[in-house]
Amino acid sequence: MTELLSPDDIGVEMHHLIRELYPICRSITGDGVRQTLRIVQQHIPLVIHEVPTGVQLFDWTTPREWNVHDAYVANVHGERVIDFRASNLHLLNYSTPLRARVSREELHAHLFTLPEQPDLIPYRTSYYTERWGFCVSHAQAAQLTDPYYDVVIDASLEVGHLTYGELVIPGASQDEVFFSTHCCHPSLCNDNLSGIALCTWLAKYIAFLSTRRYTYRFVFIPGTIGAIAWLALHEAETMHIRHGLVVACVGDPGSLHYKKSRRGDAEIDRVVQHVLRWSGAAYAVRDFSPYGYDERQYCSPGFNLPVGSLTRTPHGCYPEYHTSADDLTLVQPPYLADSLQKYIQVVETLEHNRRYLNLNPKCEPQLGRRGLYSALGGRKHAGSAELAMLWVLNLSDGEHTLLDIAERANLPFDDVFVAAQLLVEHDLLREV
Ligand code: ZN
Repeated sequence: MTELLSPDDIGVEMHHLIRELYPICRSITGDGVRQTLRIVQQHIPLVIHEVPTGVQLFDWTTPREWNVHDAYVANVHGERVIDFRASNLHLLNYSTPLRARVSREELHAHLFTLPEQPDLIPYRTSYYTERWGFCVSHAQAAQLTDPYYDVVIDASLEVGHLTYGELVIPGASQDEVFFSTHCCHPSLCNDNLSGIALCTWLAKYIAFLSTRRYTYRFVFIPGTIGAIAWLALHEAETMHIRHGLVVACVGDPGSLHYKKSRRGDAEIDRVVQHVLRWSGAAYAVRDFSPYGYDERQYCSPGFNLPVGSLTRTPHGCYPEYHTSADDLTLVQPPYLADSLQKYIQVVETLEHNRRYLNLNPKCEPQLGRRGLYSALGGRKHAGSAELAMLWVLNLSDGEHTLLDIAERANLPFDDVFVAAQLLVEHDLLREV
């Protein structure tokens, strides 16, 4: 795929998908998730799974399914002053159905606003407590001074299903690389249509590879309950997960942030940090904490999977987070493409991070005779390609991976990988 499209084009295509998905009202259940996954299916062969309401999932059960047909608040003149059709953020996500005339005071008791950001609509949910509500800008709420209002929430909260999408791309081994992205947020772009777009294009890239060492699994799931459902229904398969990342917030202008797995020293933790260290751009690394996205479930002690999270600005750390300002202007094609490129580098490093054995371990092999050494003797410093060859030969004792060698040599992984390939071609090295 990278051969077919430039990074600029890919960023633009990712943004197009985000634009297409943006108007859909998603939640942890309902037709918005189905519609979203069906659009993703136009790009990759996702399998859509349905988990019935009431299924026991460890300490949780699948909730009733929520769907919205219309919702508004009308003033004394019958004019819609808060309208779900204008922005799906206006309705408290999972609000119970209602058709009632309420006093101004009662309406205000059910409004959510952001006094600190008075022009933005907040995004609020109430999945597990039954209540009704609307989200409006603080400025708009101040204008709602009529004595009464008519509230219509034409929604259903009924026995149905929880929907998630899954794609498995087989490789040479059953060992898996696992990518998880949440698909439950309504009209919000960075959190997390950017994650959906990135996983879609990363899956396209991986499917395009001619050989794969690992099997790759992508899950597009509603946050928390979807991850819990996937783990509960696939517990036996989790033993195949060798490396994993939770994909979110990958389209904003901020620098990349890596949140380590609970283990902290898993191969995925080392690989992502290596890629970021050699990227030439600013980045940050944070230790695991049991707060954030679905790494909370994957890294719960009963699973303790090697799953970290690679984002740009972390959740809650940008002012547009969970507001109407997390829109199509916050996420931009170059940042989407840059994030995708980092994920691709992580995949390539995982694929190539193997152990080798030096077949000529007693003293250095004569590289010059094989045309592997610079013809110019006596230079002050070896070139980085020579240095990489010397390190690979010295540390390829069957114990060290190429990543171990790259870190020890303080060289980028690619240099060490290229050196190893060259040495294999010249029968000086073989894979263990
Ligand atoms: Zn969120």
